[in-house]
Amino acid sequence: MTRAYLALGSNLADPLQQVDAALRALDALPDTTRVATSAFYRTPPYGPPNQPDYLNAAVALETALAPKALLDHTQRIELEHGRVRKSERWGPRTLDIDIMLFGQLSLNTPRLIVPHYDMYNRAFMLVPLLELAPDAALPDGQALRDLLARLDASAIRPWRS
Ligand code: ATP
Ligand code: CA
Ligand code: CA
Repeated sequence: MTRAYLALGSNLADPLQQVDAALRALDALPDTTRVATSAFYRTPPYGPPNQPDYLNAAVALETALAPKALLDHTQRIELEHGRVRKSERWGPRTLDIDIMLFGQLSLNTPRLIVPHYDMYNRAFMLVPLLELAPDAALPDGQALRDLLARLDASAIRPWRS
């Protein structure tokens, strides 16, 4: 079994309901157990402005799936929850599920890059992840808390405040 960490994000069509549905779908994955889920955070949109706030959360899984099989499932879950791929990158979406860490694996393929290529720069990914795993590190040993310390996390609030 491998410990994997996912990042969930939604900023359209009732994000709380989207993320709840995603958690139920993750619970139904084969050979996989959801072992922890972070609080839900409210964060300003990344990329194009003038879109609603995002709900961001992190999930810890124990899985026997291969990394690409896990990605197949998370992309299926996105599609089942009404995600429509738009040309605008980082535009609004009903549900986004990214694989942040997959054990100590480093992988760089056209379809899957692990660790997530930009998590080092995104407090909205690191804050929920560190809530679940304060000692989490990259495969090269860098502590994620040290990476977060360089970032501005002041805009990240509880989803309900
Ligand atoms: P970003 O990747 O910058 O967060 P995004 O999540 O909006 O942007 P998507 O359109 O959801 O980007 O995904 C683009 C592609 O990224 C997917 O088709 C997928 O194959 C690829 N990808 C590469 N690495 C990962 C990963 N670690 N988790 C999820 N998707 C990944
Ligand atoms: Ca993303
Ligand atoms: Ca994505």
